[in-house]
Amino acid sequence: MIIVSGCLAGLNCRYDRQPKPVEYVIQFVADGKAIPVCPEQLGGLTTPRLPAEIRDGRVIRADGVDVTDDFNRGAAEALYLAKLVGAKFAILKARSPSCGCGKIYDGTFSSTLISGDGVFAALCKQNGIEVKTEEDI
Ligand code: SF4
Repeated sequence: MIIVSGCLAGLNCRYDRQPKPVEYVIQFVADGKAIPVCPEQLGGLTTPRLPAEIRDGRVIRADGVDVTDDFNRGAAEALYLAKLVGAKFAILKARSPSCGCGKIYDGTFSSTLISGDGVFAALCKQNGIEVKTEEDI
């Protein structure tokens, strides 16, 4: 069983409610091989919501509000699900402050990318779950 970002499975869970469906991810879910999760919704964040980016280790919303606690809570909930199903592999949405792996935005809301992982992707790695983005596969 693998974990996939909900938005890649076609759920309208992104901050702007625009899904990012990927056909092979949807097929994994349809075949019972993958569980979709949205760490931000699991953390109690509303949809739609303002975008957020990671800056100096904190998750900051576009209006300046620190939402790190919500992101951490959601990542922990999503990790709980991943462990429940014994997932060893995750396909997560590229560049997201929760799901991004390897590259994320720099916290200036200027579309500038830096090296780094989203909160949930980092937690997965810390717990032995291999993470790839939909663009790596
Ligand atoms: Fe998609 Fe992850 Fe953002 Fe949820 S937190 S909308 S699953 S990228």
